[in-house]
Amino acid sequence: SPVETLLEVNNIEVIYNHVILVLKGVSLTVPKGGITALLGGNGAGKTTTLKAISNLLHSERGEVTKGSIIYRGERVQDSSPSDLVKRGVIQVMEGRHCFEHLTIEENLLTGAYTRTEGRGSVQDDLEMVYNYFPRLKERRKSQAGYTSGGEQQMCAIGRALMSHPETILLDEPSMGLAPQLVEEIFTIVKNLNEQEGVSFLLAEQNTNVALRFAHHGYILESGRVVMEGPAADLRENPDVKEFYLGMS
Ligand code: ATP
Repeated sequence: SPVETLLEVNNIEVIYNHVILVLKGVSLTVPKGGITALLGGNGAGKTTTLKAISNLLHSERGEVTKGSIIYRGERVQDSSPSDLVKRGVIQVMEGRHCFEHLTIEENLLTGAYTRTEGRGSVQDDLEMVYNYFPRLKERRKSQAGYTSGGEQQMCAIGRALMSHPETILLDEPSMGLAPQLVEEIFTIVKNLNEQEGVSFLLAEQNTNVALRFAHHGYILESGRVVMEGPAADLRENPDVKEFYLGMS
């Protein structure tokens, strides 16, 4: 059966402060059931792309000045972040953003506020999250501010899951984490994708790990997509090897 497209970003341009052109015509698609990686170095425009999609640029004086963003066939450019959550799209921001003074479990519960009726109990959702993140279950009574960076990243993803998203926009999940934890988090992302059917668009500087877990990748440089393809092809591409995988 043909692959269903969830998200379509068509040739978007983003300008900050009315003058700084940061995205110079970015296009990408996110298919249902896929893990799509948005790769590129520091400042390439990955975070800006995710924030453009979830309409979080206004507070940073940024705006989409060209192009379109379509979710399930509908234009979502003027949708608020909470409207997007209702449509099933949720962003997990870079830097985790858990409420430090709340426990892990209280943090997870704050993610349940967008639930609509008739989807089972909040308790079932908590169990589902704990099933994927056993570490969060162990730490459920701990104040988030006292848990490790990896646990806070898990908490941020777990909180997003509480809203039953169809698509998660995940910004730099590997940031600041030891390799073993990065592996653990990407494995959970893969499990969520395969078992819950959650689609992911993930921004990553860690090309190596992202291309092992993603199905498709886009490489951004200075606000433009310079390469795209199936993750397996990108892993074998000589330019990707030389410039992004650190081995020629
Ligand atoms: P990183 O991994 O550092 O987050 P990135 O690929 O996500 O990199 P962005 O954060 O999207 O890149 O930044 C892209 C460019 O836009 C950078 O040159 C950055 O300095 C610039 N930029 C980001 N936010 C703003 C802002 N609020 N005002 C002006 N310029 C900005």
